[in-house]
Parts: sequence; structure tokens; C-alpha cells
Amino acid sequence: MERPDGPEIGLELDRASVAARSAIAGKKNLAGGDATGAERVLGGGNEELLTRKVASIIRDMIVQDILPPNTKLREKMLLEKLGDQIATSRTPLREALKVLASEGLVRLVPNKGAVVADPDISEIADMQLILSTLEGLAGDLAARRATGQEIGEIAATHHEMLAAFHRNDRFAYFKFNQLIHKKLVAATRNSALIDIHDKLNSRLYRIRYKGNLRHQEWKEAVEEHELMLQALQRRDGPGLALLLASHFGERSELISLSDHGPTAADADESS
Ligand SMILES: [Zn+2]
Repeated sequence: MERPDGPEIGLELDRASVAARSAIAGKKNLAGGDATGAERVLGGGNEELLTRKVASIIRDMIVQDILPPNTKLREKMLLEKLGDQIATSRTPLREALKVLASEGLVRLVPNKGAVVADPDISEIADMQLILSTLEGLAGDLAARRATGQEIGEIAATHHEMLAAFHRNDRFAYFKFNQLIHKKLVAATRNSALIDIHDKLNSRLYRIRYKGNLRHQEWKEAVEEHELMLQALQRRDGPGLALLLASHFGERSELISLSDHGPTAADADESS
């Protein structure tokens, strides 16, 4: 697997992501990590900031299979791996692992410590189905509720994603792509939807990137995003809902097949 120089890009994008969410929540947040629902409850102090950054770096390592499923996350090993990117100690590391456990990316096993989660195929398919439904609903609401400025910001992120596509930088593409989906959901202004989407999306984070790497019709996914942006810009709720639901929905079953054979590899989740 390729390993683009992700974490730096990740942090930069994550700051934008956090800023976007903070604007929606109407509160100031200077955090630098990729905050999710679980992380947002942590607040904004320095220790929390460090925890968020550590969680963000480990999350990216899990996503890129630098830490594959079932890897035992020993503190010493993690501190060594993190050492290149951030100065941290055991306490923020432990807190970061709790955050990742609440997202479902890490399992905390009594007497054994933390292990990278390995959700089974049916769990993944179940989550994909719900996520596709939520994305469709979000499209419908966002097309009606997004401000002109929010649509402009989504368009700008879309063009950054296109640039990543053209330079064949899959990890940056993935990050911008995630940001677009998160911004769309944030524009619904439905806090329950934002919260549930955030949790499910975190759990599927690694799977989505994996799908992205395998996807042989990457260009098709980019074209779907073009259509989505156009639907948003003309505020076509039903149209955007259909595009988003199918962007995820039809692939939920195929992901399970692709895990066991090459036949469905080209139908993977590519968003
Ligand atoms: Zn997408």
C-alpha cells in the first residue's frame, strides 16, 4: 500500500474541518485534531488539544494500515511511532486511545490493553446501509438549508479534491472527500443527524479509505462528486439525496464480497 505523507496534510485539513464544525456549533474551537463527536466533549484545554492531535495521528495510521486490524497497541511502540510527529506522554496517549475506542476504531480489552478493531463483514454492511440513508437525508436537507457561503466552501473543497485526484494523491483526495461529506452534513443544521453521522462515519473511516485505494473507477467517483456539487448549487434536494444515497448505498454489499475476492473490487466504496 502506498503511504503518502498523510499526517501533515491530515492535520491541516482537520483544522479546517474542526473550524467548519465550530462555525456550525457557534462556538470557538482552536483545536488542531480531527475532532469527532466523542472528542468534542473533551473541551478545549491544552491537554485536550494534545489528546485530539494524538488521536488524529493514530487514526490516520489505522486508516492507512500502518497499524493494521488486531495490532496490539503497546504504549511504548506508539510513543516511538508518534515521536517523529508529536511530543507526547502516556496520559494524552491513553486518553487518545479512549477516544478512538469510543469511535469503534480501537477495542479496549481487559487485561490486554488496546487493539486495533477488526469489524466483521456483516457489521460493516449494516453500518454502510445506515450511513447511505443518512447521507441521502443530509443531501435533501443541506440543499435547502445550506447558506450561500457554505455552498461556496464546499465548492472550494471540491476543487481541492480534484487537484488531489489529478496529482494522484489518494490520501489527500480521501481527506478532502471526507471534508466535503462532513460539510454537507453540517449544513443540515440537524444536530442529531450530525452526531449519528459522525459516529458511523468514524467507524467506517478505515474501510472507506481501503475502498478508495481499491477502487478502479476512481474517476467515476469524482464524476459523482461533480454531479453532487451541481445539485447542491441548484438546491435540488431530491436530486442530491439520490446521488448521495447511491454514492454509498449500492456498494455496501459489494464491500463484503471484495474482502474475499477480486470480483467486486472495482465496486468498492470510493468516497
Ligand atoms: Zn464521496
